[in-house]
Amino acid sequence: MTSILDLTKDELAQKIKPSFHARQIYQWIYQKYANSFHEMLNLPKILRDKLAQEYILSPLALVKEEQSVDGSKKYLFSLQDKLTIESVLLPMKNEQFDENGGRIHHARYTICISSQVGCRMGCAFCLTGKSGFVRNLSAGEITAQVLFIKKLNNISAERRVNIVYMGMGEPLDNLQNVAKAIGIFADIDALAISPKRQTVSTSGLSAQIAKLGKMDLGVLLAISLHAIDDETREKLMPINRAYNIKSVIEAVSVFPIDMRKRVLFEYLVIKNVNDSLQSAKKLVKLLSQIKAKVNLIYFNPHNGSKFERPNEKDVAAFADFLNSHGLLCTIRQSKGLDISAACGQLKQRRENELA
Ligand code: SAH
Ligand code: SF4
Repeated sequence: MTSILDLTKDELAQKIKPSFHARQIYQWIYQKYANSFHEMLNLPKILRDKLAQEYILSPLALVKEEQSVDGSKKYLFSLQDKLTIESVLLPMKNEQFDENGGRIHHARYTICISSQVGCRMGCAFCLTGKSGFVRNLSAGEITAQVLFIKKLNNISAERRVNIVYMGMGEPLDNLQNVAKAIGIFADIDALAISPKRQTVSTSGLSAQIAKLGKMDLGVLLAISLHAIDDETREKLMPINRAYNIKSVIEAVSVFPIDMRKRVLFEYLVIKNVNDSLQSAKKLVKLLSQIKAKVNLIYFNPHNGSKFERPNEKDVAAFADFLNSHGLLCTIRQSKGLDISAACGQLKQRRENELA
C-alpha cells in the first residue's frame, strides 16, 4: 500500500475531496502524531475510512534502539520490504532550569537520517559503502525517520530539530526524493523545519551539487572532503575519479548559501593517511576562497577496515593549525562510540547477530 508520508500536501489535496482536508490530515500526522486515520476526528468518517483503505501511516518499524552514555540514541528501522536503515538522535544541548525550576531553554536535538539503503559510492572507510547499493528511500521513508524519532522520544511537535543527511546513503544520488523530503519537512502544517536547519552531506557529486543549487531550496551543504589531494582522495573515495577536488570546489563556490552561513567541509581523520600538518596546511590553502568551516571526524574503526583511528594529539594539532590560520574548525566529539557510531555499523552488528 502507498504510504501517505510520500505525498506532499498538494499531492494529497489532489487525491481527496474536499481538498481542504489535506491540511488537517497533515497536522494529524506530523503535529498530533496520530497513529491511525480513525483518530482524525475532524474529518468526515467516509474520508477516514477511505484513507485507512488506501494508505499506510507508518512505513517504518523499530527493530532496535541503542543508547550511548553521552545521550545519543541510534535506531535501526525496518522498511516495508524488510530492508533496514539507521538514524541517530543527537542531543546538542540538555534542557536547563533556573534555581526556581523554571525552564531556561529546551533541549536541542539534531537527527541524522539515511537517504538510501546502502550506497553506490564505495568509500574505502565506510561500512555502508562496503555493502553496495540496494535502493533509494522514498521521500516518506526519509521524513518518517524524523517523525518516528520525535514520537519515540516524546519531543513535542513544536520543538524544531535540526536535520543532517549524514546517515546511510548518498543524498545527492537520490536528489529527487531528498528534495521532496526537504519540502515536506519544511511545510508549516508538517514539521515546519526550515531548510536552513537541514544539512545535505555529499561525497562530492559536483553535477548534482549544481542541480541542488539551482533548486535554490535554502538548505545547508556539507562536503565530505576527507583529503586534500586527488591521489589520496581517489584511494578513499572512488567518486573522486569522476568528480575531482577541483570540480567539487568549483561547484561549491557557486552554490547559493545564506550570507550568515558557511559550507561545512567534513574531514575524516585517518592515522598516517591524512592527519599530518602538511595536509592541514594544504587544506587551508584549498579552502581560502570559500566561506567554509571544517569539522574533523575521528575515523571509527570497524571489522575488516585497514585504517586506524588517529591520535588525539594529532587531531588537536590539526585543528589548532586550521583555527590559527583563520579556517574555522571543530572536532566532532565521537558521540556514541559505544553504540557503533559511524554509519552502517549498527546494521552490520545486527546482521552479524542474526547470522
Ligand atoms: N554519503 C554522504 C552522506 C553521509 S555518509 C557523505 O558521504 O557525505 C555518512 C557519514 O559517516 C560521512 O560523514 C562519513 O564521513 C562518515 N563515516 C563513514 N564511515 C565512517 C567511519 N568509519 N568513521 C567515522 N565516520 C565515518
Ligand atoms: Fe556512501 Fe557516504 Fe559511505 Fe561514501 S561515506 S560510501 S558516500 S555513505
